[in-house]
Amino acid sequence: MFTFSEIIYSQAMHNYATPSELKISLFNYLSSIKSSLTEQRNPMKKLKFLFGFVVIALTISACKSDKTDIPTSCDGVHWSHNGSEDGQDKWPDLCTGFSACGDENQSPVNITGVVTDASLPDLHFSYSTTSTEIENNGHAIEFSCDEGSSLSIGSLQYELLQFHYHAKSEHQLNGQYYPLEVHFVHRASDTDFAVVGVFFEAGEENDLFSEFLAHFPVEKGTYTDTTAIDLASLLPENKSFYHYSGSLTTPPCSEVVQWYVLKEALTASPEQLAQFEGILKNNYRNVQALNGRQIFSKE
Ligand SMILES: [Zn+2]
Repeated sequence: MFTFSEIIYSQAMHNYATPSELKISLFNYLSSIKSSLTEQRNPMKKLKFLFGFVVIALTISACKSDKTDIPTSCDGVHWSHNGSEDGQDKWPDLCTGFSACGDENQSPVNITGVVTDASLPDLHFSYSTTSTEIENNGHAIEFSCDEGSSLSIGSLQYELLQFHYHAKSEHQLNGQYYPLEVHFVHRASDTDFAVVGVFFEAGEENDLFSEFLAHFPVEKGTYTDTTAIDLASLLPENKSFYHYSGSLTTPPCSEVVQWYVLKEALTASPEQLAQFEGILKNNYRNVQALNGRQIFSKE
């Protein structure tokens, strides 16, 4: 049995493993108060007990570290990659819908120690054209895609929804970053996404960027025009890939993604890469622990 002062002192010294344990101790203390009150006849002693009561109630309500204080709704919850209050280390605690961000099968990862698996099905891209809709959503530059483009992997068919960019790259290859990575996001169902990642390296100018970089919204906003973008032309020729199971790399970080990171990198000129970097401002998530996951390789 703890006395009240011991409880407060222990809380101050962080001796309790969890706020729940503190509450159990406070409950025990309250039980002792109740039995004491029924025995006490001195009004001053009753007052002292009641004062202790109020202090305890305030202590419980001030117990901000309790997990039950995480907002249950994620509506309107702001997050960022590098903010001190809402940056990536804080994502799991911003609201209960973001709790997966703290789970075990997260993305991106450092691609290393890969195992060749020739039995993996190839990626079959059936990409068409899309009209141009470029959005800076505050987290990335994203191209929305018209319906009609898909990716087949074995018996599964995924619809292309959009593609967007991260600078630096999110995935690493043997511990090394690339300056830029594009993610082609495909959906088969709400619980089954296939995202194809492609690295960029400095080299020849990139045609898509030559045409649209000047129109990329530098702040939140959308640019649209009627230009048809040939989606198939955005992929490298060689479709060899690394594959593993992971998550969305932004909140809610749902672990619903089959990742395919292509081995062949695309190119953009150093000037284009620098311009992109200036717009995206380090919108990449740090690599996450593999926690026993294997990364496969297919030629
Ligand atoms: Zn992404």
